[in-house]
Amino acid sequence: MASDYDVIIIGAGISGLYQLYRLRELGFRVRVFETGTGVGGTWYWNRYPGARFDSESYSYAYSFSQDLLDEWNWSEHFASQPETERYINHVADKFDLRRDIQFSSRVIAAHWQDAAHQWQVTLEDGSRYATRFLITAIGPLSAPTMPTIPGVETFQGQSCHTARWPKEPVKFEGKRVAVIGTGATGVQTIQEVAKTAGHLTVFQRTPNWCAPLHNSKISPEEMATLKAGYPEMFARCQETFACFLHTPDPRRTFDVSPQQRDAFWEKLYGERGFGIWQGNFRDILTDRAANAALSDFVARKIRQRVKNQTVAEKLIPKNHGFGTRRVPLETRYYEVYNQPNVELVDINETPIEQITPKGIRTAGGAEYEFDIIIYATGFDAITGSFDRIDFRGVDGLRLKEKWANGPQTYLGVLVKDFPNMLMVMGPHTALGNIPRSIEYNVEWVTGLLRFAREHGLTRIEATEAGVSTWTEHVKSLGAGLLSNEVDSWMTGINRNVEGKQTRIIARYSGSAPAYRARCDEVTADGYQELTLA
Ligand SMILES: Cc1cc2nc3c(=O)[nH]c(=O)nc-3n(C[C@H](O)[C@H](O)[C@H](O)COP(=O)(O)OP(=O)(O)OC[C@H]3O[C@@H](n4cnc5c(N)ncnc54)[C@H](O)[C@@H]3O)c2cc1C
Repeated sequence: MASDYDVIIIGAGISGLYQLYRLRELGFRVRVFETGTGVGGTWYWNRYPGARFDSESYSYAYSFSQDLLDEWNWSEHFASQPETERYINHVADKFDLRRDIQFSSRVIAAHWQDAAHQWQVTLEDGSRYATRFLITAIGPLSAPTMPTIPGVETFQGQSCHTARWPKEPVKFEGKRVAVIGTGATGVQTIQEVAKTAGHLTVFQRTPNWCAPLHNSKISPEEMATLKAGYPEMFARCQETFACFLHTPDPRRTFDVSPQQRDAFWEKLYGERGFGIWQGNFRDILTDRAANAALSDFVARKIRQRVKNQTVAEKLIPKNHGFGTRRVPLETRYYEVYNQPNVELVDINETPIEQITPKGIRTAGGAEYEFDIIIYATGFDAITGSFDRIDFRGVDGLRLKEKWANGPQTYLGVLVKDFPNMLMVMGPHTALGNIPRSIEYNVEWVTGLLRFAREHGLTRIEATEAGVSTWTEHVKSLGAGLLSNEVDSWMTGINRNVEGKQTRIIARYSGSAPAYRARCDEVTADGYQELTLA
């Protein structure tokens, strides 16, 4: 059977859109399938109150088009979800991307047909399409998870998962609201909902170390200055460890005096964005004593900001150090707990037993009544979106089985036994300030497909040796990192998902420049490390 397309891309977020743009430019016949009804991925789905960037808006934006850079103005240093969604829609319109995107089209299966060197892709409605190449752009944080608390479906008020937030506004005025979850999303939601809710009850299992975002508006003059500095800014993002504007300070924590240390941390705590996490002393995520000292500093801040010290202690993480999980950035988050309409329930002390028709029942029989329950319970991260598609490779091998003990990839892009399947932002690639990695990833994949076309190749596969070398390399980079000793989505743990209770190394924790150098080397060698036919 002839292929319907040269390339099918799954997902129309930042990754899928840019991949479409690049491949269409080269004249490939491309189709994008997207579950949602619009573009944007993360910024389409996560419409919860308070959703916004933790990356500086301008450092997050696409950098590939000068025209786009020139014409788009950001209104805040950390744009809110509506603005980012508008931006991505603007990109889709400007480059006329929509005509190759099929919305409301969830891919449920993709099966490799070895005789024809093609993939057969099946949508939820049963329609099937054949394609030579398959590109997954399905997102590292796109498979939401609900808690496994009994009775979730029985609640008679309104319930919303933050990543499946309704398009029409949800009003909190005078309402009794519950938020379950205090990760990055929970923190953003809580600080916003607390402004108007009649009463807000926060159910917290694991407190996270949060730090101030220090967001502010961008004036037209400031925007002009930012634009003039774009070339240097993007060049900097190429050089930094994780593509942020911030990068580790070359000093170690105990190289400086306690006074200098405190002054440095005060400065970082007072600055915009991820500096306190990404721009700190270089050993804060590897040296236990350094990490403990920084954690003490941030704990002091929390104690200063929260009036009730019993509540403050509940908000200070005790089972992990600062920065070893994703740091939520906040705006007056801790002060929320000084408000009379906000209550914190530590579910380690009083576990939730049941969601009831009226609200939430905790151990000991207390029943809280609510009008709205918000589930800020996050994602089955990195591999979750893959697990939700029935990928079958050579001889019907299931990807989920192949990755049962953690992903095995070549450069985070290819998988042995899954020929012609290429992943953008798949496991084992660099996270950080993600669009910078996406642009590189997409360009690398585009280069490989151009090479395939020029050489008449119809089958591209990673080798066993290539996969094991890369996978071992990724694992070795994770050794010694304190974050890999902690349960979090970054180590593949999700208590609400069966089979996700064992830590894995799913993300590349080396530097982005080192990652790119390795991939460039493979290109320069004419992809000799791949099996090509
Ligand atoms: C609330 C939130 C805030 C974030 N803030 C930042 C930030 O400040 N800085 C940063 O760098 N990163 C941030 N991220 C990470 C963010 O996910 C990435 O920056 C980026 O948006 C990923 O783009 P993507 O296109 O790879 O994936 P996504 O944006 O997740 O897009 C994937 C798309 O694939 C679609 N899809 C998945 N499975 C299927 C299927 N089976 N069939 C059809 N379609 C499918 C999904 O519907 C989705 O539209 C944030 C994430 C979240 C959730």
